[in-house]
Amino acid sequence: QTSLTRSVWTDRQFKNKMPDRKKDSHKGDHGRGLIIGGSEEMPGSIVMTVRAALRAGAGLVTAGSVKQAIPVIASQCIEATNLKLKEFDGVISGDQSIPYQNYDAIALGMGLGRHESTRSIVINAVRQVDGPLILDADGLYHIQHDLELFKGRTAPAVITPHPGEMAMLTGVSVQEILREPFAYSIEFARMYQAFVVLKGSFTIVTAPNGHQSVNTTGNQGLAKGGSGDVLTGIILAMTMQHEDLFDALRNACFVHGKAADLLVSNSHSVYDLMATDVVEGIGKVYRTFS
Ligand code: AMP
Ligand code: MG
Repeated sequence: QTSLTRSVWTDRQFKNKMPDRKKDSHKGDHGRGLIIGGSEEMPGSIVMTVRAALRAGAGLVTAGSVKQAIPVIASQCIEATNLKLKEFDGVISGDQSIPYQNYDAIALGMGLGRHESTRSIVINAVRQVDGPLILDADGLYHIQHDLELFKGRTAPAVITPHPGEMAMLTGVSVQEILREPFAYSIEFARMYQAFVVLKGSFTIVTAPNGHQSVNTTGNQGLAKGGSGDVLTGIILAMTMQHEDLFDALRNACFVHGKAADLLVSNSHSVYDLMATDVVEGIGKVYRTFS
């Protein structure tokens, strides 16, 4: 039954669905995104998300983080603006008010850390953000016991778990997720009315209505820290540039994997490829299609 709504996403679909960038466009047309994450001990992952979002075409990107991480973020990505969040012992404090309404889409979780005092920022974002909200990494960790909150949302939520995170969210083993990745994705997407991007050597994107799509790009060079943070930035940018969120997510996974594929067949290998290279590879993908 589900096979009727399952498809693969290839070069042709990407080319058909990637919107033009109009000659007279301005930065506001391509979205104002907010990326929240980072901590004193993990300032790097949000940098990759921010850089990936800008490379993927986002108009404006703001990084929300603790004061200890902001110098790193600001120096590694001078094109972004920064929002200093309240901190507690080097991590983002859960207690704060963030002007979510100023942004077209929000991504939350990269490098947050798992400190309990951070949790309520994730809980409150799921409750309050009334535009698209993308949860990744430690954002998923913090929401695992409050998944019911997704049901109260009126705007879309996107989760981007790797199999380990999906196992945590569903309470089954990683082996079990890998045995039935389509079924677990569909169950979660329908139950919580969320988009699920279940990452892996082939990534499955599932919409709340149960439609599923398999990504065809990517390689084992992506099996390295930071790859997922880059994907989240591309997802944020695509979300703001597409009319349809399901298309946005599929194009994001396509570009992420295709960047890695082009790099590995030209300047890099599956051994040395790093997340920062993948960010730089986004342009190679766009150039192939423009
Ligand atoms: P994360 O585990 O959050 O860093 O995410 C890893 C990212 O790299 C996801 O987008 C995966 O789909 C991708 N990835 C990891 N390993 C592979 C692989 N062997 N083949 C293709 N993509 C991979
Ligand atoms: Mg990750």
